[in-house]
Amino acid sequence: MTFDKIDAPFPYRAPEHTTASLKETIIYKLIFLIGRSPQEASQRDWLNATLYAVRDLVTEGWINTARQSRDEKTRRVYYLSMEFLMGRTLSNALIAEGVYELASEALKELNVDLEEVLEKEVDPGLGNGGLGRLAACFMDSIATLGIPAMGYGIRYEYGMFQQHIEDGRQVEKPDAWLEKGSCWEFIRPSKRFNIRFGGHIYFEGKKCLWKNDEEITALAYDQMIPGYDNDSAATLRLWSAHAGDMFNLQDFNRGDYFSAIENRASTENVSRVLYPDDSTVAGRELRLRQEYFLVSASLQDIVRRHKRTHGTVKNLADKVAIHLNDTHPALAIPELMHILVDQEGYEWQTAWDMCRQIFSYTCHTLMSEALETWPVEMMAKILPRHLQIIFEINDYFLEYVRTYVTTDDHFIRRVSLIEEGDARKVRMGWLSVVGSHKVNGVAAIHSDLMVTSTFADFARIYPERFTNVTNGITPRRWIAVANPDLSALFDRYIGTEWRRDLSRLQELKAHIQAPEFKAAIPQIKRANKVRLADYVKRELGIELNPDALFDVQVKRIHEYKRQILNVLHIVARYNEMIANPEKDWTPRVFILAGKAASAYYAAKQTINLINDVAHIINHDERLKGRLKVVFIPNYSVSLAQIIIPAADISEQISLAGTEASGTSNMKFALNGALTLGTLDGANVEILENVGEDNIFIFGNTVEQVEALRREGYYPFNYYQQDEQLRTVIDQISAGRFSPKDPNRYQDLLNSLRSHDYYQAFADFRSYVEAQKAVDEKYRNQDAWVESAVQNIVNMSFFSSDRTIAEYAEKIWKIKPLNLA
Ligand SMILES: *Cc1c(COP(=O)(O)O)cnc(C)c1O
Repeated sequence: MTFDKIDAPFPYRAPEHTTASLKETIIYKLIFLIGRSPQEASQRDWLNATLYAVRDLVTEGWINTARQSRDEKTRRVYYLSMEFLMGRTLSNALIAEGVYELASEALKELNVDLEEVLEKEVDPGLGNGGLGRLAACFMDSIATLGIPAMGYGIRYEYGMFQQHIEDGRQVEKPDAWLEKGSCWEFIRPSKRFNIRFGGHIYFEGKKCLWKNDEEITALAYDQMIPGYDNDSAATLRLWSAHAGDMFNLQDFNRGDYFSAIENRASTENVSRVLYPDDSTVAGRELRLRQEYFLVSASLQDIVRRHKRTHGTVKNLADKVAIHLNDTHPALAIPELMHILVDQEGYEWQTAWDMCRQIFSYTCHTLMSEALETWPVEMMAKILPRHLQIIFEINDYFLEYVRTYVTTDDHFIRRVSLIEEGDARKVRMGWLSVVGSHKVNGVAAIHSDLMVTSTFADFARIYPERFTNVTNGITPRRWIAVANPDLSALFDRYIGTEWRRDLSRLQELKAHIQAPEFKAAIPQIKRANKVRLADYVKRELGIELNPDALFDVQVKRIHEYKRQILNVLHIVARYNEMIANPEKDWTPRVFILAGKAASAYYAAKQTINLINDVAHIINHDERLKGRLKVVFIPNYSVSLAQIIIPAADISEQISLAGTEASGTSNMKFALNGALTLGTLDGANVEILENVGEDNIFIFGNTVEQVEALRREGYYPFNYYQQDEQLRTVIDQISAGRFSPKDPNRYQDLLNSLRSHDYYQAFADFRSYVEAQKAVDEKYRNQDAWVESAVQNIVNMSFFSSDRTIAEYAEKIWKIKPLNLA
């Protein structure tokens, strides 16, 4: 007899805890699951015991949610992403389950400090930055809204590298996050799929057969994503590669036991390590294998589940939506064609119609060099059948274009899924557009530019296909977890519902003139600055003044994000302060953090320069501590949670037209920092929401940037004409900040003076002026606090709950479950 046959309600209830019962449970888990006595337990043991106790609270709702979705045969969406940057689990789960205080008290009775225990949890770095963190915020909103959905990703054994700074330079260390054990996940030994690679194809009549010569097993690990206070949870299923039973039989037969085992280890490479590349992917074979591994395992799982529930794949397009987070999982399109045509025996046209109803795709960039392509030759070797399917899709597509759009050969060549040339390439962006019914950008300006630049030709072919869904962030992690004092203030004035409905922040408007409310905002900010200053003191030995203005830029280090512009201004300010030491300077702390892709020379030089400049400035007595520069190593979600609530200024200074949306800009504004930014990405919509008096906008617009590119941009002219800029560049060039290695930055400076592709020089003057306006405003604390409050109360739009509701309605056509 199985439980499936039992008609009764779920037979187990999660406990309703008191402090005493939770304490008992934690001790029980410690002894019987971890095998330690309370007397011997380390902080990590207490962490794991608490995680197990809290996991129990989530499990019942999780199983019920999955069951409800199965019983009601609801339409579901599957979110495919190569990255999920989830952050730590426990603090978020405690808040979702409403037991944070209880756990704190239970542990206190055991002489254990919850805050310290929380710090012991590893932060799984299964993503590079914005794209992976977006996927994590989406899972949180999916769980909270009760959207029938599942996320699929890869359980990398090594996540994003750990960044150390040695002599001012970035050094990468492997992130063996699994070594400490991972007790939140459930391994699913029965959910295993064969993933095939290589070999060749042949035809039997019209039927195409793929005779592969490699095979590995994908094994599922499930994580529960708790919804906020709704007795429900979503599933994130991560695939791990195992050689399974597939030994190379020839090796065994030759009696070569060791070769057989060696071979096994190398096939498992597929889920070994996350590519530490943000936005550009090198054409590496292992990456292609990883992408196919995710796609093939997920699609097999989706189709299997669908058949089990519905008994047929005929209604697949009615019941399944699959979302592609960027082009990385775009092989899902030919993979579904392969399943439908080769395995299920559908006619090409029927299968293709289904595909295009099922898939949707989010574009995350405008930079054409960041759109993936794969050499035809490589794909032929690894995925011969998929390449053949892509050729066939291309034939159909180009025929359609010739018939209904244009016969212009230039146009046809531009939109072909195959880029011609010495080495032919498959264009994954084009494939994603052709195979999806909706393609969205991630901020209004980005979506507008998408249809006039990157996808202009496709917007002509399929005008109704393109749309916008502006990104968002989850208020659970980015306020409730990261900023408990601000959360408590909200609770006091408007109750607790803002956590699931951020539009409730509007209600704060009735209270913002109340003296206690007004006084609380700077007090909370100061406490968060003290918390960050303590961290910096402890980790880096640098003393920060919490009454200084905290000016923060934290994000991946990339030329388009222009950390260099920040540095140029810091040096210019330093020069001014040294020239006028007696002036009444507003004390400033510049905080930067972020990882550089390990092979990205210019980004690594930038990190080096930041640290060199910091070293000189932080040791210059003449400044009397009124200027400090700190580079905080190893930026991650848990660091972001400490840094962002402490910021006064949020630096969002990318060249207009390069940052698709940005999401840290939203985290900062919601935590009461004022944005200093260009008219780029979601900054534009932040401006619309908070109003121009509460944000500092500077720099060229997209139109001006394009005009400069068109008419010829000569950075050297800016260098010659702007004395302050020239001085800064000449100082760096003369080794002022790297006396032992005066030529260290020649490449960086040459590139700026002669090309400056991201036009930092063109925006320098306007940026320095905006920074003066920042000083000016900060001197008037009342005006500053007023603006900070206006930022907080006007950020409702940027909740990822709103984003997910838009996706569900406009793109996925999916309704939330009716959670009891
Ligand atoms: C939010 C976030 C990002 C994205 O930052 P942007 O400034 O939008 O690029 C990257 N990394 C981490 C850890 C984040 O939390």
